[in-house]
Amino acid sequence: MGDGGADEVLVVGAGPVGLTAACQLARLGVRPRVVETLAIPTTESRAVAVQARNMEMLAALGVLDRLEERGRRIPGLEISDGRTGRTHARMEFGEIPSRHPYMLDLPQPDTEAALAERAVELGVVVERGVTLTTLTQDDDGVDVTLRSASGAERTARFGWVVGADGGHSTVRAQVGTTLHGSFVGQHFAMADVDVETTLSLDTIRMFTHPDGPGMLFPMAGTRARVLFQVAEPGDGDPTLAQIQALAEARMGGAVNCSDPRWLTYFEIHHAQIPRYRFGRVLLGGDAAHVHSPAGAQGMNTGMQDAANLAWKLALVARGRADAALLDTYHDERHPVGADVVRQTTTLTNIGTATGAEAVVRNLAFFVVGHVRRIGEAAATKTAELTVAYPHSSLSVQHGRGVRAGDHAPDPAGTSVAVEQLLARPGFTLLVFGPADLDRLAATLGELGTVVPVVTEADRGVGVVDADGVLAHAYGLGSGGLALIRPDGYLGLVADSADDRLLHHYLQVNLHVGSRATA
Ligand SMILES: Cc1cc2nc3c(=O)[nH]c(=O)nc-3n(C[C@H](O)[C@H](O)[C@H](O)COP(=O)(O)OP(=O)(O)OC[C@H]3O[C@@H](n4cnc5c(N)ncnc54)[C@H](O)[C@@H]3O)c2cc1C
Repeated sequence: MGDGGADEVLVVGAGPVGLTAACQLARLGVRPRVVETLAIPTTESRAVAVQARNMEMLAALGVLDRLEERGRRIPGLEISDGRTGRTHARMEFGEIPSRHPYMLDLPQPDTEAALAERAVELGVVVERGVTLTTLTQDDDGVDVTLRSASGAERTARFGWVVGADGGHSTVRAQVGTTLHGSFVGQHFAMADVDVETTLSLDTIRMFTHPDGPGMLFPMAGTRARVLFQVAEPGDGDPTLAQIQALAEARMGGAVNCSDPRWLTYFEIHHAQIPRYRFGRVLLGGDAAHVHSPAGAQGMNTGMQDAANLAWKLALVARGRADAALLDTYHDERHPVGADVVRQTTTLTNIGTATGAEAVVRNLAFFVVGHVRRIGEAAATKTAELTVAYPHSSLSVQHGRGVRAGDHAPDPAGTSVAVEQLLARPGFTLLVFGPADLDRLAATLGELGTVVPVVTEADRGVGVVDADGVLAHAYGLGSGGLALIRPDGYLGLVADSADDRLLHHYLQVNLHVGSRATA
């Protein structure tokens, strides 16, 4: 391990992003080494909401069922006046275009525990109590210093390093970059508590108030996250009595808090690094972007970074693709991170507005809550279902069909869900209509699986699409192919199942076939 092999990958940090990267790499044939400073996992609840786009990825990874066991499905979000209890708006998640039309609320340590279980199944060992302290790279590899809990230091060399070491990233500092943005923001008091309330716990709640908003995120049982904007944080952590006083003032007295597991203040920062790739070092998650928890995007965006990166890095580390493929990680994910930073800044400013701006804000909430299409659009965006890469060099379209760069549609009504197909590691090539399947399979090779979409079960293997819902969703009723990447996005879409198009795509767009170079 760590002896200089070009195929060896080091993942720094075993938070949700590092663990996602490790699991995805391992299922694609590259078992990384993972180091984590903490001797035991954190108990801080942090990110409590898993979004639909992430659930789709986690279902294919074999992790979602474990999260469902530990979490609470949330079908909607309600915004009300914290003094009167009057509802401004309710946003429903039930109509969002996903097989998972809800938010799943659970403490971040439970999400991490489920990912860690999956990592073990995939043969990944997390080395706890080990901290990366230095990193330098040359054309052929990356040299690092790893310090154990006893203080002993050793050096090691890797082909590639994934910096998933959070907001205070050492990897980020070692490659010589910094977060650019704003580091002075609103302050919040936060608590992870048991709640007793007459309010239904199937809803995420935001309460408007002249002194600042309050939020309630129900988790399993009576456990919940509550948070309140405060003018100035006090010394140390807030007390349960202070949290209860805020709840009484700003949640209409409807919420009683007890049994605190975590009490803290935090200040909102909005920032991003200018590049996600530095030669053989790739950064993702909080190491690459930090922002407000408004909209519950932080962990979800980071885990999607990891899913986007892992399959590309696996191909490169295994020598199947040129390292140029890794540039598309920055090209695709940096704009997504920038958008999240922008959107969460705006949402936070709207949520914390006072005076005349608050009146306008409340009117806007009314519109979002009462104009169905606007509410659905907001819910779809929050679920990260609008993320797409149509301008990426990896998104190629020939003729009609669903837009390349979009996430693969997964409509109900077929014999097998698309997300189940994606549980097989690698690419999934959906083939509609007559085609030379053997030729397509030979062209795709061990990169993935060819899946014919058939209308009758007796035609053998494939997806039975008796009512044509899949063909309709892909716009390929007259035949064609759709190549789904391992992260669930559409790479190549063609209205002809011509293996030459596939061959060209693999060679020219994916850079498959040449040896990896930095
Ligand atoms: C108070 C608070 C509330 C939040 N609420 C929400 C929310 O509601 N919704 C949401 O989406 N997000 C929320 N977040 C953000 C969310 O927790 C992060 O976006 C998420 O944890 C990012 O995951 P990550 O894996 O990138 O980083 P982290 O979770 O920070 O994991 C990084 C890991 O790397 C380890 N590490 C660091 N340096 C080294 C090193 N040199 N060597 C080895 N290991 C190292 C750390 O110990 C850590 O375990 C919140 C965060 C905080 C602090």
